[in-house]
Amino acid sequence: MPFKQSDIGQGSDFEQILSRILQEKLYEKKMDGVGFQDAILLVFKELLEFSDNIVQDFERDGKSPTVACKSGCSYCCHSLVYIIPIEALLIFQFISINFTFSEINALRDGISHTRSLTTGKTVAQTYALKHELPCMFLKNGECTIYAIRPSICRSWNSLDANTCRVAYDSVDYKSSVNVSPVRNFIFGTTRSLFEQFSEALLFQSKTLLLHNAVSDCLDSSNPLGLWTKGYNVFIYD
Ligand code: SF4
Repeated sequence: MPFKQSDIGQGSDFEQILSRILQEKLYEKKMDGVGFQDAILLVFKELLEFSDNIVQDFERDGKSPTVACKSGCSYCCHSLVYIIPIEALLIFQFISINFTFSEINALRDGISHTRSLTTGKTVAQTYALKHELPCMFLKNGECTIYAIRPSICRSWNSLDANTCRVAYDSVDYKSSVNVSPVRNFIFGTTRSLFEQFSEALLFQSKTLLLHNAVSDCLDSSNPLGLWTKGYNVFIYD
């Protein structure tokens, strides 16, 4: 699929371009004999990679500011993360293949810990507890699911690590961080497309908290199969 940076320029509709690629990729997978259940996850992953490449091109060509985020910096990994069901299913597939039994048990502990600290709390109260709420996928300052991390983690990238540190040290949940507008737009659009696509197919599409969504997948016998049949896999939001 030929694609140019200018396609995202003024007057173009990036979502339409992505939507076309989504349909084409699904069709290709079908022609290759891949069932819809496997194809949808593969295509979502491919579109995330496609969007990643666009962002890298923009930043390499100086058309978007380079972000300050780097390995070991994890201020933003201490807040509640919101994802959509297909992201939870991609994470579940990844951890089922790559995580050991004890690592999955550690995730369960992380889920219980997050729930015990956040259930019934307001946004402001939860924000004030962020130092005690590292993401359950954060280990030694690094993301253990980096290759398939949620779109919000890809889009919420800072242009100034100092603002992240100030927000991390603050109890004011309205503290702002200077984020990359291009990353925000590209990954926000990618996520929105899959949200709409899921909704159109009558699959669960509502935004979920990461720890709750992973918990629901771990508690299900076949989350992807059930989700693609329209069952309610996700109980907690
Ligand atoms: S999923 Fe990864 S990048 Fe996102 S908050 Fe968790 S550790 Fe950080």
